[in-house]
Amino acid sequence: MGEFPPGIAYIDGEFVPISEAKISVLDWGLLRSDATYDVVHVWKSRFFRLDHHLDRFTTSVKKLRMELPFDRDGLENILHQIVTRSGLEDAYVEMVLTRGVSPTFSRDPRDAVNNFFAFVIPFGWIADEEQRARGLRVHIASVTRIPPSSIDPTVKNYHWLDLVQGLHEAYDAGKENVFLGDGRGNITEGPGFNIFAVKNGEVTTPATGVLQGITRHTALELCAELEIATQETEQTEVALKSADEVFVTSTAGGIVAIAEIDDVRIGGEIPGQVTKKLTELYWAKHSDPAWTTAVKSHN
Ligand SMILES: *Cc1c(COP(=O)(O)O)cnc(C)c1O
Repeated sequence: MGEFPPGIAYIDGEFVPISEAKISVLDWGLLRSDATYDVVHVWKSRFFRLDHHLDRFTTSVKKLRMELPFDRDGLENILHQIVTRSGLEDAYVEMVLTRGVSPTFSRDPRDAVNNFFAFVIPFGWIADEEQRARGLRVHIASVTRIPPSSIDPTVKNYHWLDLVQGLHEAYDAGKENVFLGDGRGNITEGPGFNIFAVKNGEVTTPATGVLQGITRHTALELCAELEIATQETEQTEVALKSADEVFVTSTAGGIVAIAEIDDVRIGGEIPGQVTKKLTELYWAKHSDPAWTTAVKSHN
């Protein structure tokens, strides 16, 4: 195994270097993907939209009928502490609650003691610098996204076998990333990002069947501020390929332009005008006190 990235974890009630953060092989988070998580980033020592991430995480925990071992202040305090202890100024901060282990090893999820851990590692990007500059080349997978009637996509989860299978398909096709459809001709999302199209000045993104990404929400708010029309609606794969611009949104890197879908070249110059404006405003907002929280050094 390669060297671990620099980082700190909070696990079993302790702060440890990332290389020492381990969970039991009996944890249902691992054995059954029975877990929820959230990822918030820190940019220049400020959390971006922390409240939104904490709201989504605590809502997901409730939907899965799990319980956090502390209240929201306690949770927030741990996130501040791991970031401070890591010394990282730009960071990727992941909080996780798994079903945990049943003390009697019963098969009843109600018996399990939920397991919370969190970790911080250096800021990560869904696309490298060169890819961000020229736009990603993506593949639309034949594997479809797990249906919302099976797994609630608004609960951030580790049911990633469809997404990972899609990535392999994309690499086999000589592409760099993947979009998954719903099997009925509509696009959903990709591995850790939401998808947007721009057509005739209007910005659209799938309304349902996707994680309600915080960056997705942010992009819609930035559009409102820039007086760009938006619509949350079904998005066909065909319409996406004829869009003027396509971009994706993720906490892991913000807004990223798409240059090619399958063998169709999207729009003209990369990034397109709308994508460019949104990306600039997105990063400008990272120093706005209304949308950010300074990392507290511990007391
Ligand atoms: C995390 C994630 C996203 C992006 O959400 P953000 O809150 O913007 O980071 C989109 N889709 C899936 C499946 C995800 O896991």
